[in-house]
Amino acid sequence: MLSLWPIDPVPDQADPWHSDPMTSDVATICSELISLDTSNYGDGTGPGEASAAEYVEAFLRGAGLQPERFQTTSATRQAVVCRIPGQDPQAPGLVIHAHLDVVPAIAADWSVPAFEGTIHDGMVWGRGAVDMKDMDAMILTVVQQWQSHGIKPRRDIVLLFLPDEEAGGRHGAHWVVENRPELLEGVTEGIGEVGGFSVELANHMRLYMIETAQKGLAWLRLKASGTAAHGSLIHDDNAVTRLARTISRIGEHRFPIQLTPPVQEFLEAACDAAGVPFDPSDPEAVIGQLGPAARMIGATMRHTANPTMLSAGYKSNVIPGEAQAMVDARFLPGLEEDFFAQFDALLEPGVTYEPQEKDISLQTTFDGDLVAGMTAALRAEDPHAIPVPYTLSGGTDAKALSLLGIRCYGFAPLQLPADLDFTSLFHGIDERVPVSSLEFGVRVLDRFLRDA
Ligand SMILES: [Zn+2]
Repeated sequence: MLSLWPIDPVPDQADPWHSDPMTSDVATICSELISLDTSNYGDGTGPGEASAAEYVEAFLRGAGLQPERFQTTSATRQAVVCRIPGQDPQAPGLVIHAHLDVVPAIAADWSVPAFEGTIHDGMVWGRGAVDMKDMDAMILTVVQQWQSHGIKPRRDIVLLFLPDEEAGGRHGAHWVVENRPELLEGVTEGIGEVGGFSVELANHMRLYMIETAQKGLAWLRLKASGTAAHGSLIHDDNAVTRLARTISRIGEHRFPIQLTPPVQEFLEAACDAAGVPFDPSDPEAVIGQLGPAARMIGATMRHTANPTMLSAGYKSNVIPGEAQAMVDARFLPGLEEDFFAQFDALLEPGVTYEPQEKDISLQTTFDGDLVAGMTAALRAEDPHAIPVPYTLSGGTDAKALSLLGIRCYGFAPLQLPADLDFTSLFHGIDERVPVSSLEFGVRVLDRFLRDA
């Protein structure tokens, strides 16, 4: 099974950098970034990302680089870009996109302060520890060490620290794509969040989930209309009843399994690694045997549509003429039309919808030099590593950057303890990351990015 993947058989043990105790700086940087509250409420009321952008700019400047900090849509929404010149100026560039905002945290739910960046029990704790101030800190650590050791990567690397990823990137990635595309001039490939972390199997092999595809998103506002009337009458044309019927049909509907190429590739590789047979006619049977990877993968085998909000009426004895609901729909890569055809069939006459928010799906292949580089770097640091492509059920700033023709992968490498329920920590309570995982990520990124 190991022969499925390109292997770097001789880890570069002679490189003195890899025993540098300074790698633990990464935990301090992560902690300091967490202590800067950059909560994004999605409605413009949060503190913004300026404090973190100032931190990143000062850090890079202190390392001897020339970053540019700029505001996007307002003074509180700020980004930092820094181009690290490569040895080969003709080679196309690589962007590392990282976001500076975090989702809010409710203090009462947490066992530690969410915005202090506490380090204890070998972990860095706080909002952003895995999404994604961990990766911010790993990138900063790698480039600082390159600077102090005079290391230049093979090709141009553009570091892009962005605001507003958690609310769709209108003040961040999308703004940059529309207003400052020249920052990504000559860039053809990119890496970013939600990929590269390990999932340990029962046989102690570790899958490293490299994200090669993302589902598309459609937040749909449904409207049912009827005839307004007094609540005491016999009444057959009730918007609330009509909407309720449609909403329950959507909520209870299971879209059929459709295996896209990246999901099929993941299942084959994961089954091979786990030593269980893969039956393409019954992929769900296999999912249950994959341990913690199961929950992530289940939602990438089919479209989903979940009702999330309802509103109707203004008084107990008035039947309203209209009722509304929101549905969070996620469609499989390349199958948007197929999704909407199936969705339309669930609607009852008199119910219409329009998208409140929509974003594209992404899909690329798990091959080429960049993938070989990620694989080699992981294997050099972890002999039990089995890198596999996977599909993200959500979305990242990669969606926006892909509009510039950039081929993006999710690769923020972390070797994780087998018992850590990592995916539940994204936007979760007591978000935390092991210090040793951060140090592993720094070593892998260093290896990978030098020659990427
Ligand atoms: Zn994120």
